[in-house]
Amino acid sequence: LQEISKIRRSSLTIAPEAGLQRLRDIINKDISEEEIFRSLEIAAKNGWCRAKLYFMIGLPLENDDDVLSIADLAYRIKGFLKDITRNFDLVISISNFVPKPFTPFQWVGQNSISELFRKQNMLRKKFLKRKIRFKFHSVYQSAIEAVFSRGDFAISKILQNAVYQDTIYDAWSEFFDFNKWQNIFKNSDIDIKDYASRDYKLEEQLPWDFIDMGVNKDFLKKEYMNAVDGKQSPSCDQNSCRNCGVCDFKDIKNIFAENTRAQKLIKIKSETKEFKKYQIVFSKKKHGVLYFAIELHRIFSYILNISGIMLKFSEGFNPAPKINYLFPLPVRLEGEDEILLFISEGIDNVIDKVVRLNDIAPLGIKIKDIKKNIHKNISNVIVVYKLRADEMRLVREKMAQNKAHYERRNRNNIIKKINMFDYIVDIKGDNIILKFTDAGGFNFLEFFSFWNYNKIELGIVRERILICGG
Ligand code: SF4
Repeated sequence: LQEISKIRRSSLTIAPEAGLQRLRDIINKDISEEEIFRSLEIAAKNGWCRAKLYFMIGLPLENDDDVLSIADLAYRIKGFLKDITRNFDLVISISNFVPKPFTPFQWVGQNSISELFRKQNMLRKKFLKRKIRFKFHSVYQSAIEAVFSRGDFAISKILQNAVYQDTIYDAWSEFFDFNKWQNIFKNSDIDIKDYASRDYKLEEQLPWDFIDMGVNKDFLKKEYMNAVDGKQSPSCDQNSCRNCGVCDFKDIKNIFAENTRAQKLIKIKSETKEFKKYQIVFSKKKHGVLYFAIELHRIFSYILNISGIMLKFSEGFNPAPKINYLFPLPVRLEGEDEILLFISEGIDNVIDKVVRLNDIAPLGIKIKDIKKNIHKNISNVIVVYKLRADEMRLVREKMAQNKAHYERRNRNNIIKKINMFDYIVDIKGDNIILKFTDAGGFNFLEFFSFWNYNKIELGIVRERILICGG
């Protein structure tokens, strides 16, 4: 903490998971109350002013004292920090236990929805009384997570129906609609609690038993029994192998990190003299439409790094790779020749790199080419969209009525009209050619949604982007 504080003091996150040591031992969370206080003390004394503490409720073998102890611990921490600094922002984040396959608690059902709400309410009262800032994870979302975590073949039907019901954004809480999910389960004759809350017997065949994850089931049973007895198991990073089954100690064994990636990058940065500018041309189709701009940014920094391309990083406290996805497509739209710019050390064998990148790129992303980027000005581009006949019909109809626009509300709640005529260059057959600048572009998704044309599958494809600047 003292070392980190020399460069960057963002929010500190500690995950005690449980309020009492008894429960932390049961779940094998090797962190003591003393360590939590000590870490926060060092943080506060070294200039940190914000921390998040993660806890979980509904844990196996939990009782009401365990739940309430979270608020007690938070209250004591708050008082402790107040004695060190006046301005420490503490947030308590509470999630709900979701049983996961291949863990010692895979047999234990999730608390019922009403039980989780009861526990949340108990805590809420205490938090409010003691003026502690808190956040709860949605109980309904946790129930659905538990179903998919422990699901068997029958759940594939639910997934399929969920896609037809347009639930593809439900991982984002603002889009999550539990009523919709309840109907989907009801229509498939599947009860959420049969999957989420059911306790399995230790000798029972589990839906995921046919998958070999390396960890053997007897080991998990032993760990579960240790948990029931309140016994902690030592961590295998301290030379105490418990024979979980993962390592064969020939090809698979624990390897401890030598140099961190950050250290390596600092070394590369100081040794490298020359970087070059490149463009990646890629397509984003089928599953690829689900990636939003930040995710694609992340994906490309991973795959470029794995492929051995030495990216240039920005300077400062929070170095980031020099990557720029040009005029990112919104989620749900396909792109044929998308452009991502990056700066890296010189690339010798482009063809090999393209093959390697395609080996590791996720489904729906295909790298087509890497070429030198000769453009200094990338703020003006020509984009070519291809639309399906029915979509094109609507565009032409709105153009004829002088209504080829949509409205967008900005942060100050002011409505702005975005007019296609401000962007349009030409229309040829089923292609619309537009000009985008750094002042923004035209969003077809918003256009169709504005005119209530909400089809699950859209036929809009961005076919090309041409950089106009020299
Ligand atoms: S050292 Fe390997 S086999 Fe032993 S407990 Fe750890 S992961 Fe399992």
